[in-house]
Amino acid sequence: MNELSNELPDLTSDFWLKLKQKCSELQIISLHIIPTDYAIGGKKSFEEKFGNGVPEDLEYLTRNQEVRNNPGLILEGARSVISISLSYHSSDYPADPHTGYISAYARGRDYHKVIKQRLDRLGNWLKNTFPDIRFRAITDSAPFYEQHFAKASVFMAKGRNNLVRLKNAGSMIFLGELLTTLNLPDPKKIITMNTEKNTESDYPFFTTVLNDASDENSNNCISGLSSGKNSLECPEKCRLCFSSCPTGALNPKKFRIEKCISYLTIEYGGYIPEELWSGLQNRIYGCDTCQLCCPFNKKTDITADPEFSSRFSQDFLKLSHLLSLTPEEFKKSFSGTPILRIGYYKMMRNCIIAAVNTGSSEYISCLVILRNSVLKRMNLLHAEITAGNTDGENYSEPDRLLREISECTMVLRHLEHAFTLLRNNHD
Ligand code: SF4
Ligand code: SF4
Repeated sequence: MNELSNELPDLTSDFWLKLKQKCSELQIISLHIIPTDYAIGGKKSFEEKFGNGVPEDLEYLTRNQEVRNNPGLILEGARSVISISLSYHSSDYPADPHTGYISAYARGRDYHKVIKQRLDRLGNWLKNTFPDIRFRAITDSAPFYEQHFAKASVFMAKGRNNLVRLKNAGSMIFLGELLTTLNLPDPKKIITMNTEKNTESDYPFFTTVLNDASDENSNNCISGLSSGKNSLECPEKCRLCFSSCPTGALNPKKFRIEKCISYLTIEYGGYIPEELWSGLQNRIYGCDTCQLCCPFNKKTDITADPEFSSRFSQDFLKLSHLLSLTPEEFKKSFSGTPILRIGYYKMMRNCIIAAVNTGSSEYISCLVILRNSVLKRMNLLHAEITAGNTDGENYSEPDRLLREISECTMVLRHLEHAFTLLRNNHD
């Protein structure tokens, strides 16, 4: 293959105007193109974040480091990364304690699927101009330094809340990458789509010098643009995200992931420590507090992307309704959304804690029904294991059965503590 035939044209070409139009059609709000070598610097950020170890549930992040450091192992011959973002900034959610709070990013269609489709469409469109290129869409689907590549853009920076934000759009954005065999005209420069308002027709794209990839503070700002990285950095005195964090997970000293509600309600599969229950309030999937309080998210537009508008009515999210769902109803209701992946038992656990946080004994009756159905399910699972032990031929998936028993036990533990707290309130 003649690699030079895959070289991106210079910025005066019509190609860039058409690319910007394509982005607009795909609701892509930012795009920049970086050489794959930039991965080298991601190692340093990764070690800073996880240098002291990672919780068991996130261990997968530490695997395949050699692939993370070398995107060429994901796509042979990869030369460049097209880093994009989509907005999921949605309208405010009512703060009713009897209604479960779902993080803004998870209220619509599963973002993995949406981003993958958009990236594939972008890749296929690029093939019209570069028929020989190969590409692979990445949406959490391969080990990759996503934030590191995103921050290479002059319009992106990471805040003290650990989130990458985009100029004019804030931090409620999904990131995605198209790994390609396209060559940048100058491997020492990145190409960035101009997201500055009122300048689209003049500069659809521009280049900036790629500074030392390992330097977190490198400034890619170019003259001629009215603002660069500096305007995106946290104001010196702002600590709003620290003071707003309900559990103290985010604090000036060290991010305590084991106290983060987002981690606890989504990734963590065990018993949530009782001292953290009240901090969860009505949050049953994720937590947006360190984003919602951030001044950079205050003046941004609500997304017009229909894929990310909420699929759930307020009635559906009533705790009494959610606690009455069967495992089958849970699957059906959350199918096609990111929430499905936490599974029925974690969702029940989170709703039990939210019910306790209302302080209302009206939940005791539905929690009793839930306990009975979990006990019944556990008995069935035990019976299946016993039958399996005596009838080895039909005994399949013992690990799955044991895992489900352990999830039932976890929910029952939460229920016992919930009964104690709600009955104490009642007495
Ligand atoms: S997601 Fe919530 S709990 Fe986690 S750091 Fe942010 S504010 Fe704190
Ligand atoms: S709340 Fe303040 S300190 Fe926190 S990320 Fe936003 S600007 Fe930075």
